[in-house]
Formats: sequence, structure tokens, C-alpha cells
Amino acid sequence: MAAALVVDLEAEHSMDVILVGSSELSSPPSPRSRRDLVAYEVQVNQRDIEDMCICCGSFQVHTQHPLFEGGMCAPCKDKFLECLFLYDDDGYQSYCSICCAGETLLICENPDCTRCYCFECVDTLVGPGTSGRVHAMSNWVCFLCLPFPRSGLLQRRRKWRGWLKAFYDREAKSPLEMYKTVPVWKREPVRVLSLFGDIKKELTSLGFLESGSGPGRLRHLDDVTDVVRRDVEEWGPFDLTYGSTPPLGHTCDHPPGWYLFQFHRVLQYARPRRGSQQPFFWMFVDNLVLTEEDRAVATRFLEMDPVTIQHVRGRTTQNAVHVWSNIPAVRSRHSALVSQEELALLAQDRQRAKPPAQEPAALVKNCFLPLREYFKYFSTELTSSLQMSHYTVKTATKKDFS
Ligand SMILES: [Zn+2]
Ligand SMILES: [Zn+2]
Ligand SMILES: [Zn+2]
Repeated sequence: MAAALVVDLEAEHSMDVILVGSSELSSPPSPRSRRDLVAYEVQVNQRDIEDMCICCGSFQVHTQHPLFEGGMCAPCKDKFLECLFLYDDDGYQSYCSICCAGETLLICENPDCTRCYCFECVDTLVGPGTSGRVHAMSNWVCFLCLPFPRSGLLQRRRKWRGWLKAFYDREAKSPLEMYKTVPVWKREPVRVLSLFGDIKKELTSLGFLESGSGPGRLRHLDDVTDVVRRDVEEWGPFDLTYGSTPPLGHTCDHPPGWYLFQFHRVLQYARPRRGSQQPFFWMFVDNLVLTEEDRAVATRFLEMDPVTIQHVRGRTTQNAVHVWSNIPAVRSRHSALVSQEELALLAQDRQRAKPPAQEPAALVKNCFLPLREYFKYFSTELTSSLQMSHYTVKTATKKDFS
């Protein structure tokens, strides 16, 4: 892998630098790893932390870390971009908020925060032994939630949300601009327009909609033939517009392409005015009923390529969907590529009405987790299970990004 090679070369290069720099000084002890080098260089050699990658210790700084003071090398920047909005099924982020890696992660117990930190980052940047002390604490809040901005060498950036947006807009290859994440005290419940397929159950289980009676903040429409702009503006405003081709077993009055055209039409009514800074998200899901030509049209209309998300049991793909969405990290979530032949077989199974193992909405459910950075969420079994039991650590799920 190219990235690993770069890191190795840099490691050799930076070792040379320490040997020269550390010869006259006796304390603190010479750094044992490249990560320890960060503290050593800053404390002993008075190096500016912005001139070192705080994720790995490299001197080849490409940019600045968006959340904490310090630099970031190009390979760490790529990893950070890829993992920025990745969440696990437990509702917490999948990786360390500093280095975007880490196997054992400390989780923040602020109920409104979903961030994690690896032992190595905490021990090298805050101070040796810190991870053990945090692990023993029953209620720990993280470096972005603490009232004071500095812990050891770890200094939270002022206005880090603005830094994060600027970082993403500058570094990501995505043509989509990122919406600035919203601080907890400003987050409102999400207002949803759900066309054809309904995602009420999924959004409720994630805590975005309050369970119980009442119409809530989701409007579901099965048929939009007579819906005009004035209707949508009256029902809105909306923060999320979801649409899908009809669920299986649903009597279709229209050809599959019709659902795409109608979704696109209604999406234009639901969108905020051009240039608005209000976060607005959308998702269109095809459960393999669109033809290849329809998919090409969808890609032109929605101005992005679809991502295939699949449910795999053992070695067989049980179900798959094509997803077009501007929700962050939908692209990072897609797992190994599915062959066109496999998808064609699945689509054939559909026609024989073999029921899929998982409904399309269930397949895309976790794609909504990044919305936690933008909207209020209510407590659910998912969000409270880790916090109630006072776990302060979790093990990162290994993901393959090759
Ligand atoms: Zn790095
Ligand atoms: Zn880390
Ligand atoms: Zn936190």
C-alpha cells in the first residue's frame, strides 16, 4: 500500500532528526516511539506543535488538524477525511477524534457527544498514564466537551466547527460542501419528508424522532402526483427529504423511473433557497428496481454517483440497495464492491418475490447517524445502553478501507 510506504520512509527520516536533536539533553527521556516524539520535540526542542503531525509524529506536515492545535501529515489527513463521520452501530464514532485510528477507544460520556479517543493519543498528548486514569473514571467528558480548552499538549481550537468545515471543504475531493456541525444547544429535532418508502421506524430507533403518539415531525407521502410546490412549502420547512423506489410487495402503479422523477421534483420544493447555510440533507434509495438507464438518469439528476450498500450474511449478499445522498460518510460506509452479476441475480430474485432478509430502509439506517452532529436526538435504548452501564471504553470495529 502506498500510504504505509510513505509512513515508513518518514519514520526513518524523523529518527535521524531525533538522534541529532536529543544528544545534548537528558530529560525527558528520549522518545521511544515516533508518537512520543511529539511531546519531546515540543517540550525539549521547543518545536511548534503546528509543525508536527499530532496523529503520528511525522514532520511532513500537510495541513493543520481541524479540532486541536497541531499539524497533520498527508496520509493522516486522508484517514481523517475518510473517517470523519463514521459511526458504529452503538451510536458512537468509529475512530479516535484525534488520529482517526485506535483499537481501544475511550468514549465521551456527555450524552450529547459521540466522540472517542484512543489510548495512545491521550497518553502521548495529554500525559503518560492518562488513559488508565480516564478508564477508571465513571464519568468522563472529552476534550471537546470540557469547559477548559487545554489538557497537556492537547489544545482545542477556538471555533473548531468552523475549522472542521473549512478543512473538509478544502481537502475533500467531494464536490459537496459540508454544512457546519451544530453545537448541542442549537440543535433542533429533524423535520422529515419521506416519500414512498417510510423511514419513521428507523429514525425513531436512532432517537431522531420521539417515540409515542402524535404525528411527530415526519410527513410520509405514498402518492405525490398532485403535490405542488405550495403544498411542500406549507408543510415544511424540512431538514431531510427521503425517497425510495417502492418497497417489495407494494403494488406499483407506476414504472420505477417515475419514483425517481417525482422524488427529484419534490426535492426541489423542499430545498432551502440557494446559498442558505441551513443544513439540508436528502437521500434516494433504489432497491434494485431501476434499470441501468434509470440509474444513469438518477446520477445526472442528483449530481452524484450512487453507492451500493449491502447486507451480507456469511458470504452471500442477501440484499443490496443503490443510494444517492448528501449525508456525510455515506460513501465511506460502503463495504466491498458487489459485482454487477450478483446484483442482477438479486434483482431477479425480487421478481420471483423472494423476501429479502432486510428491508431497504433497515439497510440504510446507520447512514443517518452522522445527522447527530446537526439535530437533536432523544434518548433511546441505543444511546443509553453504553452510558447507563458506565463503560468508558469500547473496541473499535475493524474496517477495511482498501
Ligand atoms: Zn500523520
Ligand atoms: Zn488517536
Ligand atoms: Zn465529548
